[in-house]
Amino acid sequence: MGTKSIFNYSIQDLQEILVANGFNKFAAQQIFDWIYVKLETDFNNMSNLKKDLRDYLMSNFNANPLKSLVVEESKDGTIKILFLLDDKKTIETVLMPQKYGQSVCVTTQVGCKMACKFCASGLIKTERNLETNEIVRQIFTMNQILKEKFKDDLSNPRSRVSHIVVMGIGEPMDNFENVMKFIEIINETKGFQIGARHITISTCGVVPKIIEFADMKTQINLAISLHASNNEVRSSMMPINKAYPIEKLLDAVSYYIEATNRRITFEYILIEDVNDKKEHAVELARLIRGMNAYVNLIPYNEVKENPYRKSTKIDTFFKILKKEGINAIVRKEFGADIDAACGQLRAKREGVFKNDEV
Ligand code: SAH
Repeated sequence: MGTKSIFNYSIQDLQEILVANGFNKFAAQQIFDWIYVKLETDFNNMSNLKKDLRDYLMSNFNANPLKSLVVEESKDGTIKILFLLDDKKTIETVLMPQKYGQSVCVTTQVGCKMACKFCASGLIKTERNLETNEIVRQIFTMNQILKEKFKDDLSNPRSRVSHIVVMGIGEPMDNFENVMKFIEIINETKGFQIGARHITISTCGVVPKIIEFADMKTQINLAISLHASNNEVRSSMMPINKAYPIEKLLDAVSYYIEATNRRITFEYILIEDVNDKKEHAVELARLIRGMNAYVNLIPYNEVKENPYRKSTKIDTFFKILKKEGINAIVRKEFGADIDAACGQLRAKREGVFKNDEV
C-alpha cells in the first residue's frame, strides 16, 4: 500500500495526478464516488477502475481511516471519538445530531498555541497542525458510523454528516491552508457534498486571516470567539487580544460582513463574575449594535485547573441583550454524560493515555 493518504486531495488535484501519470482524468470522479459516497477504502474493490489504475493507486496511495481508540455515545445521541494519529498523538471529534441534520465538530490542531486562559486545549503540551487528510478522515469515520446506523439507506439525509463546525481543538486560522483544503474536499458534490453554508469556522480573532478569508468571498459561516465586551477583560482571558484588540477585530468582522454579505456569529462564554455582569451585557450591545450579527451565549464548561466558574446569570445576561435589541441565543449543551462538552475531553484523554500506554 502507498504512503500518501488519498484524503489529502480534491477532485482537481486527483485529475492532475491522473493525467500526469497517463490515466484518464475522469477516473477522479469515480475514485471520489467510491471513497466519499460508498465509503470504500480498498482500491482493489473499486470495480469500475481499470486494473492498471487500481495497481497505480495501490502502490502510491492509501485510503486508511483514522484509528479510533474510543467511541462513546451519549443518551442524547452525541457520539465522541478519540482518534489515534500515526505519530501516536490523539484528537477528538464529536457528532451532534440536530433537528436540521448531523453536525460534526472537527479538530484542526493537536493542542493550541492561542493559550486562552479558560480553555483546556492550551493545556495539551504537544502542538502541531493537523494535515488535511487527518481532518477529512474525522468526517469519514463519522459517516461510516452513520451509514451503519441507518442501514445503508442513502435516501435518508440523516445517514450522513450534513453540517460542520470547525470548533474542536485548535485555531483553524492558524492552520489556514489545510483547513481550506479540507473544506474544498468535503464540499465536493461528487463526494461528501457538505455545502459551504453548512460549514462554520470559529476563530479567536486572527485578524489578517479573517481579512484573507473575507477576500475569498465564500459562503462559509464565520464565528468569532469574542467572550468579552472590553479590552481589559478580553486581554485578561485571551492573549490574542493584545495583538488584535477588539476595535481591530470588529473592523475585520465588518470587512467580512461587507465582502460576503453574510451574518456573523459572536460566541460569548459566560464566566461567573468575569464577563457576565449587567454592565457587560449593555457594553456588548453597544459594541455590536447595527452589525449583521447575533450572539451565541455559551454556558462555560469548567476546567478544573483554572479558576473560572460557570455563570449563574445566563438568563439575566440574555434578557438584557434582547432588551437592547441584540439577536441572541443560549447554546444547548451536548453530550454532558460522555464528557463531549468543550474543555472536558482532555481529562478523558489522559485516562486513555494511562490505560493504553499510547
Ligand atoms: N480556536 C477557535 C475554535 C476552537 S474553540 C476559537 O477560539 O474560536 C471553540 C469555542 O469553544 C470557542 O468559542 C472557545 O472559546 C470555546 N471554549 C473553549 N473552552 C471552553 C470551555 N471550557 N467552555 C465553553 N466554551 C469553551
